Amino acid sequence: MIRLLCALFLAMLALPVQAQQNALLDKAIAAATRTFERALPQMGASTMGVDNAAYADALKARRFHSARTGNVRDVIFVIEDSEKGSCAKFAAYVAGVSNSEAAHLFICPQFFTPGADLLRETTILHEMVHVVAGTDECQAMAYTAQIQMLATGSYVPVAKYWKENGCAGSRYRLPD
Ligand SMILES: [Zn+2]
Repeated sequence: MIRLLCALFLAMLALPVQAQQNALLDKAIAAATRTFERALPQMGASTMGVDNAAYADALKARRFHSARTGNVRDVIFVIEDSEKGSCAKFAAYVAGVSNSEAAHLFICPQFFTPGADLLRETTILHEMVHVVAGTDECQAMAYTAQIQMLATGSYVPVAKYWKENGCAGSRYRLPD
């Protein structure tokens, strides 16, 4: 009986956490969408090798046509509850960047750090580049910075990560 009560109690505790996480994720996606839509009129069909229409679909409809894999792909968000594997290092990551019908965007515990709203938005913008365009870190950072710059006149600094990935030698540039 005590065990049953404990299980019930844990179930009651777990539900608000999941609801909270879902709400934070939805808020971050909405913020990323607003920023992208503010920048979009100032961008052409593609920016830094990213197809902007496909990016818009991935972000807003969670379904897009991938020129890279040649098929229509769903974007599936998966909230991870442990800090193992890639979640030991990242706030989010994309897996299944292949010909499969879905790209999975994994959201790690770090993503839900209190007060990190702008980082959450930035993470969504960044990971969505991986969903649509592939694994290039420099491309993902440069595209995200460009969108934020066009939308707001500034961007979340990425100097450390830019350096770690040797992006100075890449074909991509951060906004001035
Ligand atoms: Zn990345």
